[in-house]
Amino acid sequence: MRIDIVTIFPKMFEPVLNESILKRAQNKGKVKIYIHNLRDYSEDKHKKVDDRPFGGGSGMVMRPEPIFKAVETIKSCLPDAKTKVILLSPQGKILTQKLARRLTRYRNLILICGHYEGVDERVRQCLVDTEVSIGDYILTGGEVPAMVLIDCIVRLLPGVLGDKNSLHFESFEDNLLEYPQYTRPAFFRGLKVPAILLSGDHKRIEEWRRVQAIKITRRKRPDLLKKYKITARGGKDG
Ligand code: SAM
Repeated sequence: MRIDIVTIFPKMFEPVLNESILKRAQNKGKVKIYIHNLRDYSEDKHKKVDDRPFGGGSGMVMRPEPIFKAVETIKSCLPDAKTKVILLSPQGKILTQKLARRLTRYRNLILICGHYEGVDERVRQCLVDTEVSIGDYILTGGEVPAMVLIDCIVRLLPGVLGDKNSLHFESFEDNLLEYPQYTRPAFFRGLKVPAILLSGDHKRIEEWRRVQAIKITRRKRPDLLKKYKITARGGKDG
């Protein structure tokens, strides 16, 4: 997969992309990530990319020309057509594990990070394929949401995580939260690890984990449990 990011704050990405799984995924050649400074596509002599909103109102709006130019330039360099242009936006589809999984099917993702009051509406109308939100709250810019989206997608790419099972049993796969995890020591401050986990009986451990996952989901996210029950009955995945 190739991911291109269009931003006015390119430096914000460096520390995040150069650590941990994201760094390893790039080193292994599973993903290539390119960062483009939107100001490089501005024809304004001061490299301005925003202007006052027509009709008045507070704040500034990101002008359409540099964003169109950046995305069109990136697209012209891409070898194939399986590209999705995503605007990070509070108006977008809420990011879920399911949406992230769907996005792994694209060869190329172009992420546009908004700022100020957001982008000129014509960017939404003519350039963007989909809008993604990371939750019902407002952040200063699209950079943090873009990093969240990238992290979530890249760890799902084949061969990025060492153990495939670690993805299979994670929270939200199957609409269940994860079962409780323990490690050494088996006895800590008077608290024992459940005996079943030390039994070596993998079939019973698996059953115990499923029951625990259902209990935890019922307690913390009853909304998810309803979806789990529907899929378990063979219904449609929500
Ligand atoms: N005036 C806009 C509104 O009321 O919807 C908010 C603009 S916000 C301050 C600036 C930029 O941050 C947005 O254009 C978007 O790119 C990004 N952003 C803010 N919150 C976001 C969220 N929850 N998910 C994704 N992107 C977000």
